[in-house]
Amino acid sequence: SGTLYIVATPIGNLEDLSPRASATLASVALIAAEDTRHSGRLLQFLGIQKPMLALHDHNERNRAAQVLGRLEAGEDVALVSDAGTPLISDPGYVLVREARERGIRVSPIPGPCALVAALSAAGLPTDRFLFAGFLPAKRGARRSELEALVTEVATLVFYESPHRILETVAQISEVMGSDREVVLGRELTKAFETFYAGPAGAVSNAIEADPNGARGEFVVMIHGASRNPEQGDEEAVDTDRLLRLLVAELP
Ligand code: SAM
Repeated sequence: SGTLYIVATPIGNLEDLSPRASATLASVALIAAEDTRHSGRLLQFLGIQKPMLALHDHNERNRAAQVLGRLEAGEDVALVSDAGTPLISDPGYVLVREARERGIRVSPIPGPCALVAALSAAGLPTDRFLFAGFLPAKRGARRSELEALVTEVATLVFYESPHRILETVAQISEVMGSDREVVLGRELTKAFETFYAGPAGAVSNAIEADPNGARGEFVVMIHGASRNPEQGDEEAVDTDRLLRLLVAELP
């Protein structure tokens, strides 16, 4: 059977597409794309013409079957998403899982990924991190998810849409404490790339002071919880936070 290539594409700057990604897209028989119009523009930029097939969250099962058929017939196929690495908060899981179960070769063509780019430049610990994708859209569910991570010692990483960024930062401050260190990576690799860093209670001031601050795409990173909360003044902070959490839950 053919090979399924998982091809990372740029997260903003087209020059980040690797020569190997370009060569792979040029060599396959078919490109499965999250959005064929969006990826069509990338192919046009690269001067590549290929048959494309839309494979997104709503039709993945059905389309995966078609792609698997082509692979089993011996054709090579590339999977791309709108930006960055497929399967990282993007479609492709069903296809990759099923391809592996059928013994089809799956090969990554690595490249841009917003969470790795953001972490690599944020100045937060990277020895251990927990990527949790997008937080729930509803306030209550988002709060519960943050509460479940309050004591997590790994650096926390989320994706967030621009229209919720200020609300999310406010909730992080409420739930994790206004002194918890937060770094926001915005518009990475693009013209207005910006990092906002500071305690959760103050970081939104910088966004609000910037006329374009709440525009564009964000990676939200939060310093993990202290490993030794029993020690010294960390205890005072934790008690304070616990009290605030308890009070917030009172009727
Ligand atoms: N597969 C992609 C990857 O490898 O990063 C992520 C796709 S996910 C649907 C889109 C989210 O990724 C955005 O809402 C934003 O949180 C983040 N993102 C993508 N590009 C970004 C960029 N240039 N700067 C900051 N965040 C970005």
